[in-house]
Amino acid sequence: MQYRKLGRTGMDVSVVGLGLEHLEKADQATVHDVLSRLIDAGGNYIDLFMGSPDIRDRVGAALRGRRERLLIQGHIGAVWQDNQYGRSREPALCRTFVDDLLRRLATDYVDVLMIHFVDDADEWDRLLAPGEIMDIARQYRDAGHARAIGLSSHVPSVARRAVETGLIDVLMFPVNPIFDSIRGDRNIEALFNPETFEAHGLGADRERAALYDACERHGTAIVSMKTYAAGWLLGGNSDLHLKMTPAQCIQYALDRPGVAAALPGCRTVEEMDAALSYVTSTPEERDYAQVLADSLLWNQTNRCMYCNHCLPCPVGIDIGEITRLMDRMEAPESGFDPAVLRTSYAALPASAGDCIACGVCESRCPFGVGVSRNMERAAAVVGR
Ligand code: SF4
Ligand code: SF4
Repeated sequence: MQYRKLGRTGMDVSVVGLGLEHLEKADQATVHDVLSRLIDAGGNYIDLFMGSPDIRDRVGAALRGRRERLLIQGHIGAVWQDNQYGRSREPALCRTFVDDLLRRLATDYVDVLMIHFVDDADEWDRLLAPGEIMDIARQYRDAGHARAIGLSSHVPSVARRAVETGLIDVLMFPVNPIFDSIRGDRNIEALFNPETFEAHGLGADRERAALYDACERHGTAIVSMKTYAAGWLLGGNSDLHLKMTPAQCIQYALDRPGVAAALPGCRTVEEMDAALSYVTSTPEERDYAQVLADSLLWNQTNRCMYCNHCLPCPVGIDIGEITRLMDRMEAPESGFDPAVLRTSYAALPASAGDCIACGVCESRCPFGVGVSRNMERAAAVVGR
């Protein structure tokens, strides 16, 4: 297993974790076995948002005697009413369900307390008022019942607004190539509706890229939900000519800036094993570049994926990194300090201006990016 820092929290998280959503109706033995598989493979990060007493009790029983081997992400604002999942912003009810989670898990803390499912900017602003959810989350943290505060959201502009407050340590966000090809203001429901789904090309949504950049700047770790795009990517999507393996999906998520871990939802031991296959997969098995290049997500926007499949360069240019720095310099909304970007650029072994336009990189790029043109642009932006 590989581990990454969970942003500024400093916690070490396994790059493959588990979202428990699909185990909500599973029996005790299945919950136990799936969690055991994760733990035995060195996995240490789980997300449990559901308010259902059954799944909370089963996870609690499965973790008896080994709670300390896992980092638990619980949610404030997810409740269970009338025998079904619900979302609440009512402070007393939210407290009841956090206390209930701790009791059923037989622990006195969660590692990350996520403010659950905020996709509306006005709602986010309201949650910051005294006595509202952010206040309550901080009280849990200050009392030692939560080590860090997180947010789960599906809307880039809302998530970014929250991250820019500096109050969010961890962001749970859908990271996959299908969602990355959709404009950020689209309603989450529209993503799953073939009538309204419309891909604009990978990286077309600058808001999404700006969110990833903001997370990196603030030290806010991203944990990926919907890593398989709710199964679309694994089952194959004939409209998009796209089919990926679990290892490729996980690698895609882990390659986005700021992402610390992918938390695929697994229903069975077999599905957990498929996700964990990432750990033992070869770089070739994880490589998704050609799959995306062959899909209809790629719309020839000349957008570099920073994957460096085009190397080696005869004059030693780090093409992916130079292009990433140039894109950030040209996009003020990325929020990066231009001086810091220039310092990073200066530390590279070769500059864009060293490009001799030999074109060998372009023959290797699966996305058809005009690299020598990009190097010319970068040299003009930076001045060398
Ligand atoms: S130019 Fe192509 S191969 Fe090179 S980093 Fe960009 S997308 Fe990858
Ligand atoms: S075209 Fe420029 S960046 Fe590409 S391999 Fe040749 S020298 Fe390197």
